[in-house]
Amino acid sequence: MRPAPGYPPYALAGAFDRELGDPDRTDLPFYPGRLRELDAAEDFPADQVRLLDVAGLPAYYVPARHGGALRSYEDLLHLVRVVARRDLTVAIAHTKTYLGAVSTWVGGSAEQTRALGERVTAGAVVSWGLTEREHGSDLLSGTLTATRTPDGGYRLDGEKWLINNATRCDLICVLARTEPAGGTRGYSLLLVDRSTLADGTHTPLSAARTHGIRGADISGLSFTGARVPAAALLGAEGSGIETVLRSLQITRTLCASLSLGAGDHALRIATGFGLEHRLYGKHLIDLPQARRSLTEAYADLLTAEAVTLLAARGMHTLTEEMSVTSPTLKYLVPATVDQLITDMGQFLGARSFLSEDFAHGAFAKLERDHRIVGIFDGNSMVNLNALINQFGSLARGYRAGRTEAEALAAAADLALPVPEFDPVRLELTSRGGNSVTASLPAGADALRALADAGVVPASLADRAARLREVADETHERMAAHRPTPRDVPADAFDLAHRYTLCAAAAACVQIYLHNRAAHTEGAWRDGLWLEACLARLAARLAPGRLSAGDAGDEEAVLDDLLPHLLDQHAGGHMFSLLPFPLAPSPDHADRPVRSAAVPQLQETP
Ligand SMILES: Cc1cc2nc3c(=O)[nH]c(=O)nc-3n(C[C@H](O)[C@H](O)[C@H](O)COP(=O)(O)OP(=O)(O)OC[C@H]3O[C@@H](n4cnc5c(N)ncnc54)[C@H](O)[C@@H]3O)c2cc1C
Repeated sequence: MRPAPGYPPYALAGAFDRELGDPDRTDLPFYPGRLRELDAAEDFPADQVRLLDVAGLPAYYVPARHGGALRSYEDLLHLVRVVARRDLTVAIAHTKTYLGAVSTWVGGSAEQTRALGERVTAGAVVSWGLTEREHGSDLLSGTLTATRTPDGGYRLDGEKWLINNATRCDLICVLARTEPAGGTRGYSLLLVDRSTLADGTHTPLSAARTHGIRGADISGLSFTGARVPAAALLGAEGSGIETVLRSLQITRTLCASLSLGAGDHALRIATGFGLEHRLYGKHLIDLPQARRSLTEAYADLLTAEAVTLLAARGMHTLTEEMSVTSPTLKYLVPATVDQLITDMGQFLGARSFLSEDFAHGAFAKLERDHRIVGIFDGNSMVNLNALINQFGSLARGYRAGRTEAEALAAAADLALPVPEFDPVRLELTSRGGNSVTASLPAGADALRALADAGVVPASLADRAARLREVADETHERMAAHRPTPRDVPADAFDLAHRYTLCAAAAACVQIYLHNRAAHTEGAWRDGLWLEACLARLAARLAPGRLSAGDAGDEEAVLDDLLPHLLDQHAGGHMFSLLPFPLAPSPDHADRPVRSAAVPQLQETP
């Protein structure tokens, strides 16, 4: 991959996208018609996965210190994002190897990381076996056992179910009960090389047919007296749950890439349709409500991108806070994109329902496919619960205005390279709270100062100030929450949901403040994108609220985003805060294009 100039992670991912070829070429693996056929036949996308291997993606699953190419999690995130934008089945099938390997990067010995690094770089497929049929998210109820054998190794007995790549994997990282009584120190992780298991001691379960990602290899594995050597144990015996919880902080962050890619795909299809489709003697995009639907989706996608940028970079600089950052992101971004897809489905109308005749059924496919992102790797409730468990420290940190200022600036300033990630710094809970959210009051003050100096409109500072009030109130209520390990009250989940929206507002403000000097054109001018994103977040925090009598349309600022959305669509760029060129299409010149001027306002029929 030879990156072009620009923001380095986007240049790298853009170059990778071009290597995958023009998505509109019928003879290439990522042709949407081919992807539709595979999905309809529930066939594994083998050619597409092979192309990702050839293009060098596996090396990015291996940290550089273990012999791979992974230096910044941002790189990996955006490489996966461009694949997800083409097809979620392929992205999920391929990136599963990172999930299978991550516990070794977090808890493995030098020898284990070196050996796995070599295997993954060479293309080995690795699965992650955490879940069991009867226990879902409740990992502490897992019954698959690893029993010590006289030779110092283990024998595995039990089943893991709903495992991605269960039949294709070369290795699988299994969470197993090593203490009969279980408990937090009663589980261990074992990296099992399937080629070393005796015949008849492990069997793939029958394939589970799925609503989305229909071509993915989803089933399970059953072990009966499967012998593995002592060297398969990752870390100390009993450390399995802790290593999983640390590893999930990384994988939950990376899941945002799947949603960002799917969101881009959905908005791209809808924008193309809006430009082409004619009714009542005009184009759909000329109807004010239709335009608003697109700009709302665009603003939500930019918000999701800003939050993701800060989280992925924060993994390197604010590592100790990832127990907050990762569930916030894993809840917020898939939920935002699920809603975006629903809204774009309404925009497309009947065509969203067609599985062949419109855009090769790509919209209907991504709508089905994306549902899994909010479910696996910790579903929405599990992530909100993880935040509820930390309400106390989050509220205290916010009240004290506690931010790791230098680390926050290093994460938010996109011109700075991030330092090497050190998994040893991952903590199970964040003692200091969350620097990003706690920075909102100071961020709102900084925007007020910019408004007073005439640099940004006063309306932007007003919106930030109102969101700061919401964040103050949300944290007060979080402080009043009484922790309960079980039977968590329903209203705590609502509070955690509100917390994630406040965190998103704070992330957008930080990304804007730290980069506005370097980016003065396009949607950065006058803080336009920030104001649009804050307007959307305010609406999501107070759904259905009517504007105050004299306030007019509080989301009118969204209309000003349209030229930027259309420019990125016409230019074949990712919908993004920064230039993110993608593979060109041969029909590029023929694609319906609008100039950067806002379309003429016309009467709605
Ligand atoms: C396509 C696919 C691929 C998968 N791949 C893998 C894989 O490779 N490896 C692997 O280990 N697993 C995998 N899984 C399993 C997946 O990660 C788990 O199924 C999921 O994380 C657990 O959620 P659940 O909905 O199955 O079950 P449960 O956790 O039992 O959830 C059932 C319901 O309980 C609710 N709930 C759960 N916890 C709470 C809580 N604390 N508070 C309130 N409500 C709660 C949930 O929201 C849900 O409504 C895969 C699943 C699918 C569908």
